[in-house]
Amino acid sequence: MSINVRPIDQAVFRNSFVEELRGEIAPDKRPRQVPGACYSRVGPTPVSDPHLLAWSDDCAAFLGLSRPAERGPAVDVLGGNAVTPSMKPFAARYGGHQFGNWAGQLGDGRALSLGEIEACDGSWWEIQLKGAGPTPYSRRADGRAVLRSSLREFLCSEAMHWLGVPTTRALSLVGTGDTVVRDMFYSGDPRPEPGAVVARVSPSFIRFGNFQIMATMGETDNLRALADYTIRHHFPELGEPGEAVYLQWFEEICRRTAIMIAHWMNVGFVHGVMNTDNMSILGLTIDYGPYGWLEPYEPDWTPNTTDFGQRRYAFGQQPRIAMWNLMMLARGLSPLISKAEDLGAGLETYRLTFTQTHQEMMLRKLGLAPLAEEDAALVEELHQALAEAEVDMTLFFRQLSHLSAPLRSESGSESALFRELIAATSYAASPTAEAEHLEGWLQRYAQRLRLEPSDAHSIREVMLSANPKYVLRNYLAQKAIEGAEAGDLSPLQRLMDVLKTPFAEHPDDDELAAKRPDWARTKAGCATLSCSS
Ligand code: AMP
Ligand code: MG
Repeated sequence: MSINVRPIDQAVFRNSFVEELRGEIAPDKRPRQVPGACYSRVGPTPVSDPHLLAWSDDCAAFLGLSRPAERGPAVDVLGGNAVTPSMKPFAARYGGHQFGNWAGQLGDGRALSLGEIEACDGSWWEIQLKGAGPTPYSRRADGRAVLRSSLREFLCSEAMHWLGVPTTRALSLVGTGDTVVRDMFYSGDPRPEPGAVVARVSPSFIRFGNFQIMATMGETDNLRALADYTIRHHFPELGEPGEAVYLQWFEEICRRTAIMIAHWMNVGFVHGVMNTDNMSILGLTIDYGPYGWLEPYEPDWTPNTTDFGQRRYAFGQQPRIAMWNLMMLARGLSPLISKAEDLGAGLETYRLTFTQTHQEMMLRKLGLAPLAEEDAALVEELHQALAEAEVDMTLFFRQLSHLSAPLRSESGSESALFRELIAATSYAASPTAEAEHLEGWLQRYAQRLRLEPSDAHSIREVMLSANPKYVLRNYLAQKAIEGAEAGDLSPLQRLMDVLKTPFAEHPDDDELAAKRPDWARTKAGCATLSCSS
């Protein structure tokens, strides 16, 4: 199947979600409860001056979309100012557990799906505008998004994809020409900020919460219809929906979620708000808000100021929280299953898949084939040693990859190499004092590396393909935001170019792989983020 490249305003949209499921034609956009509906048919609210700020050539090429000029009909679509005849825009209804508590109806309060378009490989992808104006699910908020959070979502979606992490994608970042008032840290200091709209792309944006709201409200017919729709469109390999297939489907959701979380742990990504309304039923990273990347290896770290008390969604908690979220989803699917305890098999699949995938990924990062029993203990111990030594996760593994060859050849000068590695990657005030444990670990690792059957070159290649040089460090995203807010898009563009191949060296861009500078340690937007976006 091949399609001709076209601008988005000339793409033909399919509207399977609204055509196959029950919803409402929204008579107005006032916030309200919408019982009995999977969605509300509601269009975007126009903005003053939609203009293109950034574009993902990679995502566009896959969708067969041509890059638009800064202003014009395609950007009007991407900013929410034009709806073409084949689109049936809608806001989805969903609920969710926020920070462990059931929050009732939430829904797309500022996101609107335009429908699906066909990609070059014949698959169908939903295009969703985030920040496109109010919907019946906006509650007390304005339906808009600020440039800083939109840029962060745009950039991180693509960076995660290029790292190989399951994620929704982003096509465009459009400035609106309007301001949006936000109190960035809920400190009583609201101020106007530039507004923006991101066009997000995913096979579907259905979340755990879409099912939970129906189960909670006793809407079993809707629950079944949504489950059947999801299976037919997104899990067709499972066959025709029915009770046995629902169980297999849940198990597959658990498997995919486990793989996604293993990827997060592998690259040091902290989502920041793993509420069940932010969990994709397809096992994709979704809803980039106050996320962050580990710099010092700190399992207890989260960038989300709203979560500073509890640290529920800190880096090291993510595997456990995903399991809890899957338990809540199981509860939401239980009206479709005669023996709810049968859903337990899926949860066990989550546990096993996560453990195994995480272990395999860690071994690749260390250049080790799963040979010996003791390897599990070696990997386990590393987490603790890294935390004590306060080393930068990304830098440590990347530099270790380069060291693998000398370590394997028993040069006799390992101790000096270890101290150099630690000094170059640690944030501790006196790295050598904090790093005794890590030094001991490195000694054992070097001995283990010498037992590895592969040659030094292959080991190094495996490690360099498992340990990215470049990730979207929090302060780099902040610099791109400050540039964009001042009208300079070049820092954003440069980051996009480098993050597209994060495992390559890019010698001219070494500074984008540098340790976090001291000024960024406590700076807002670098070290701390809030949900105010
Ligand atoms: P989040 O924490 O971003 O996942 O959002 C939680 C809920 O709040 C979702 O239902 C969002 O659609 C809604 N929401 C967040 N920000 C806004 C906004 N500015 N306007 C309307 N709804 C919003
Ligand atoms: Mg959300």
